[in-house]
Amino acid sequence: MLVNAYGAHAGDRPLEPLQITRRAPGAHDVQIDIAFCGICHSDLHQVRAEWYGTQFPCVPGHEIVGRVAAVGTHVHGFRPGDLVGIGCIVDSCKHCADCEDGLENYCDGMIGTYNFPTPDAPGWTLGGYSQQIVVHERYVLRIRHPEEQLAAVAPLLCAGITTYSPLRHWNVGPGKKVGVVGIGGLGHMGIKLAHALGAHVVAFTTSDAKREAALQLGADEVVVSRNAEEMAAHAKSFDLILNTVAAPHNLDAFLVLLKRDGTMTLVGAPATAHDSPNVFNLIMKRRTLAGSMIGGIAETQEMLDFCAEHGIVADIELVRADQINDSYERMLKGDVKYRFVIDNATLAG
Ligand code: NAP
Ligand code: ZN
Repeated sequence: MLVNAYGAHAGDRPLEPLQITRRAPGAHDVQIDIAFCGICHSDLHQVRAEWYGTQFPCVPGHEIVGRVAAVGTHVHGFRPGDLVGIGCIVDSCKHCADCEDGLENYCDGMIGTYNFPTPDAPGWTLGGYSQQIVVHERYVLRIRHPEEQLAAVAPLLCAGITTYSPLRHWNVGPGKKVGVVGIGGLGHMGIKLAHALGAHVVAFTTSDAKREAALQLGADEVVVSRNAEEMAAHAKSFDLILNTVAAPHNLDAFLVLLKRDGTMTLVGAPATAHDSPNVFNLIMKRRTLAGSMIGGIAETQEMLDFCAEHGIVADIELVRADQINDSYERMLKGDVKYRFVIDNATLAG
């Protein structure tokens, strides 16, 4: 079936309206009318071919929420009308050790929501900047938030799980001091989630203007990372630093803030490499520099339920499809509080 979408035909071209084909739902598929889709910085990296291997036309979008329109004959967990979400994963091998552990995000056969091989036309997956999507039921998430919060739930499907998963993996909770670097789409969710998990949260930002807002989001303290004195006051004190920055920067400035056995985990995925950190900053206090990628399906459901229980959603600005290009420019300037979300109804007509 043909549906309206928004995508790009080349990395140096703006996104524009186009039509794409979705498969008819198979026995285990769920067909979803997409209501809203968040704009992740990864969408920009991919559609502008900053990352390797973008296939065109490229339709980004992996923070998808909407209602079930139809289900295949073997689907028992979802019914038409259910509120559901799709994140960054639409398929995986389903039988490797990672899949069996519920960590489909680390399966070598993981199929991402866009730009991954698929038997469907045109040969690669196309994402949520579109009216509908068809996904195997295993990768469909249930949304338990009230419907009026639906647009603000969308960013949980990537920004939420990408920050929740490392916070849980490194046992963040009461008594732990956690830094969140970069107050953008991921970072603002990291602050909210670390706060809800009971940690002492310090937000690091390059923009003085975000100081007050970071406290409102749940940070206990805010540090403007350009200010050496403010940084030095936190030397050797963090259990975990969650670094969401979308550009190469000086990692040593943050490594020295970890206490003995502390970890900095990188979730930001800049298109060009960071300078190598000074190994002495790792050796001296047995510190760890780590990475983390989104999260598995079971953990994504756990995160959504945790957020519904704690009343947590993203802070969003709703935009029309014809504002996507402008939203990218504003995201690059840090001019977003804190996630753009597309109203997919504006893709009609
Ligand atoms: P975003 O909304 O643009 O936020 C990034 C933030 O980083 C900015 O708001 C800014 O915060 C800070 N920043 C940007 N440029 C900087 C620079 N040159 N130096 C220092 N700080 C800078 O992006 P996002 O959607 O949160 O995504 C962040 C990164 O995570 C992207 O690279 C994205 O591809 C990646 N990502 C990774 C995963 C994963 O699974 N690991 C999942 C999703 C996204 P301040 O103004 O507060 O400094
Ligand atoms: Zn994302």
